[in-house]
Amino acid sequence: MSLIVQKYGGTSVGNPERIKNVARRVIETQDQGHGVVVVVSAMSGVTDSLIKLAREVSPTPEEREMDVLLATGEQTTIALTAMAINAMGKKAISLTGAQAGIVTDGVHTRAKISDLTPKQLKQYLAEGYICIVAGFQGQTKDQRITTLGRGGSDLTAIAIAAAVKADLCQIFTDVDGVYTCDPRVVPTAKKLDEISFDEMLEMASSGSKVMQSRSVEFAKKFGVVFEVRSSFNHNPGTIVKEETKSMETVVVRGVSIEKNQAKVTVRAVPDHPGVAARVFTAVAAANIIIDMIVQNVSHDGTTDISFTLNRDELPKIEAALGLVVKEIAAKALEIQDGIGKLSIIGVGMRSHSGVAAKMFEALSQAGINIVMISTSEIKTAVIIEESKLAQGANVVHEAFGLSK
Ligand code: ASP
Ligand code: MG
Repeated sequence: MSLIVQKYGGTSVGNPERIKNVARRVIETQDQGHGVVVVVSAMSGVTDSLIKLAREVSPTPEEREMDVLLATGEQTTIALTAMAINAMGKKAISLTGAQAGIVTDGVHTRAKISDLTPKQLKQYLAEGYICIVAGFQGQTKDQRITTLGRGGSDLTAIAIAAAVKADLCQIFTDVDGVYTCDPRVVPTAKKLDEISFDEMLEMASSGSKVMQSRSVEFAKKFGVVFEVRSSFNHNPGTIVKEETKSMETVVVRGVSIEKNQAKVTVRAVPDHPGVAARVFTAVAAANIIIDMIVQNVSHDGTTDISFTLNRDELPKIEAALGLVVKEIAAKALEIQDGIGKLSIIGVGMRSHSGVAAKMFEALSQAGINIVMISTSEIKTAVIIEESKLAQGANVVHEAFGLSK
C-alpha cells in the first residue's frame, strides 16, 4: 500500500461545503487503496481575523499567546474535516501538530521544526484511519504551542511527507499549479508540468507566491518531490522536484512580477572602505528587509549607493538612515516610489547566452525603461516603473515563447 500526504489550503476548506468536498476527495484517494494523511490550513481568512482580534485587546500581544491563539484556526479545521469524513461512513481522526509529533524550537510565531517522530500517526494509519493533521503548528520540547510562520501548513505537509516517507505529497490549492506567469497578468500564461526546487524558490522570492518558501527549501533539503494542484478540479498539477538534465533545454521557465517596491539612494557618499558597511548595518539594525543593492562607479571620490525594498518598509528608512547619512557626509537620501520588479527565472540560463539581452531588447521595444538590474545564476531581474509591470511581463513572456 502506498502512502499519500495531501495538504489543503485555506480556500479549499473555506466553508462547510468545501470541507465536505475535501472529505470526498480524501475518501476517493483512500478508496484507490492508499493510506492517507491530510494536512489542513485554517479556513480562509481565519488566521487574519485572529490576528486582528489580538490587536483589539492588546497593542503588543505576547508571541507565546499569539501562538496559542493562531493554532486554534487549524484546530477547528482538523475537527471539522474528520467529522465530515466520519459522517460519510469512513474512519478519520484529527491530530494537532504536537500529537503528530512535530517538535519545534522556541521561536514563537516563526518556529523551526527540530524533530518529527510521528508515532501516533503511524499507529492510526496502521489501524486504517485517515489522519487529519493541523498544519502550521508544533510544540516545543517543554510543551509550548508554536506556529511555523505564515503559510506554514505547507511546511507541515512537506515535513510529514519526509517523516513518514510518503510515496506522494500533494499540495492542493485554489490554482491549477505553477504557471509561467500569473494568468491574471499574462492571459496566455501556461501551467508548467514540472519545475525544479530552485526555480520554485526563485519564483516565490520574486513575487509568485504559490507556496511558503521555507517549505520549498525543506523539500529540497530532504528530497521531497511534491505536486501543486487544484482542489476544485481533477487536472494534474505541477511537479516540483530536483533538477534534471532535460530541464536545462528550456531557457526561461517563468516570469514573476512584484509590485509595491521602492528604491532608496544614498547620494554622493565618500568612496572609501566601511561606508557601505555603515549604511547596511544601520538598515539591518532597524530590521529592514532589502532586496537589490547597486553601487555606482565612483567619479569624484564619491559614489551613489541604491537599494530596493518593499514599500511598506519605507517608514522605517528615515529613522534608520537619517543620522548615518550625516555622519558619513553623504549628500542626500532619496526615495523613489512607484516601482516594481520583473524577473525571469530558469535553470537553462546557466547554459544559454544572450538571455539578459533578449529580455532587455523586449523591454526596450515596448519603451520600458530599466532602473536597476540584478542577476543570479538562474534569474535576471529588473526594476521598472510599477505601472509598466503588466506590459513588461507580457512582452518578456512573449519574447521567450512561454505561451507555446
Ligand atoms: N493559517 C496559516 C496562515 O494563514 C497557515 C497556512 O495557511 O498555511 O498563514
Ligand atoms: Mg495558506
